[in-house]
Amino acid sequence: AKSDQSFRGLRVLVVANQKGGVGKTTTAINLGTALAAVGERVLLIDSDPQGNASTGLGVGRAQRKTTLYDVLMGEKPLTDAIVHTAVPGLDLTPSDPDLSGVELELGNAPRRSYKLRDALHAIREAGEYSYVLIDCPPSLNLLTVNAMAAADAVLVPLQCEFFALEGLTQLMRTVDLVRGSLNPKLEIQGVVLTMYDRRNSLSEQVASDVRAHFGEAVYQTVIPRNVRVSEAPSFGKPALVYDLKCAGSQAYLKLAREVVLRERERRAAA
Ligand code: ADP
Ligand code: MG
Repeated sequence: AKSDQSFRGLRVLVVANQKGGVGKTTTAINLGTALAAVGERVLLIDSDPQGNASTGLGVGRAQRKTTLYDVLMGEKPLTDAIVHTAVPGLDLTPSDPDLSGVELELGNAPRRSYKLRDALHAIREAGEYSYVLIDCPPSLNLLTVNAMAAADAVLVPLQCEFFALEGLTQLMRTVDLVRGSLNPKLEIQGVVLTMYDRRNSLSEQVASDVRAHFGEAVYQTVIPRNVRVSEAPSFGKPALVYDLKCAGSQAYLKLAREVVLRERERRAAA
């Protein structure tokens, strides 16, 4: 695949924020769908034992035969743990509730923090995907560490609320720690403001504070709070499939274009 002129390489993005309920899974699902809609080939890896990304994409328990758990335990190659979703161009590596036991089960296994990175090697070589998005649990456990060790860059969804900046500073410290130990090349892909409420002056204040501190790292696109976005997962559909015209879906499409553009600029500069 590398000799093919159209081969554009693979970008592995970890969707991370140690806080729960900030829009990580919603962003993984809808950015993944939007990237596929603009022609990228996307693999979403559901690394949260809760499996919200799998459910939200309509991949029920019956379709989760081989999962990320089997991959991290070294029992199956990642290529065996991939299912197609209803969205053309978007595949999924499903979660498993047993993922919550991986930390204990791996114990002091060699390369325990690099299980996902090692598993992704074959995917990088095959050149079938242009983006891998990893949806993480809201904590800094071995699953998140594996995701950060495997990723090229971190994509941070940030909810526009009072303690957003403190949370972001803490996450940046974690990224520095990972750079200093497991993955020196880990970059910040960008910060995306989620659940933005135009009628709430706090949203606006937080957004401008975050932009003042993190500048260019913050995407221009802001994801609005939108009831259609929150309804979609209960139908097992991405918002973009449930209601393409709603403001939330349109914002995720805009974000996907921004991500692709930023990626193109990054590659031109490299
Ligand atoms: P996390 O994965 O960080 O825990 P989720 O993506 O699951 O967060 O989002 C938390 C809750 O907020 C969910 O109920 C989700 O449907 C809702 N939500 C996320 N983004 C939006 C949005 N843009 N508008 C409305 N509700 C949203
Ligand atoms: Mg989640």
